[in-house]
Amino acid sequence: MDDAKRAALARAKERLDRLELYPRPVSTRAVRIWVVPWLFRLPWFRRFDGYSAHLTILLRSRALLDDGDLVAHELCHVWQMQHHPVRMPLSYIVRRYDGNPYEREARRASGRPDSGRPGSPLNSDCHR
Ligand SMILES: [Zn+2]
Repeated sequence: MDDAKRAALARAKERLDRLELYPRPVSTRAVRIWVVPWLFRLPWFRRFDGYSAHLTILLRSRALLDDGDLVAHELCHVWQMQHHPVRMPLSYIVRRYDGNPYEREARRASGRPDSGRPGSPLNSDCHR
């Protein structure tokens, strides 16, 4: 991972470390950021600018490394999965995206409580 990605991850961790959502702070030790524009051209991913998995944050473009809210949002999902590795991803199957409590928590944690709602200019985050 290059310096810009490491710095983006460190800034996001700094933001999340101010919150006390889970017993342990988020660990970024094994987390990697990948910039994969081609992925976000696929139908499922088209509506997102970022996406997260257990140890991975995927971004649509390199410029989004400077979007502190987005990277913090994605890292919050990584944090959630560090505490609820099965329940959190499954929650997206049983709950609608907008009403999903993990999604709402990540929006609050990233300072974008309204993002993702229809008509919002910030309809652009992640998931799982
Ligand atoms: Zn999200």
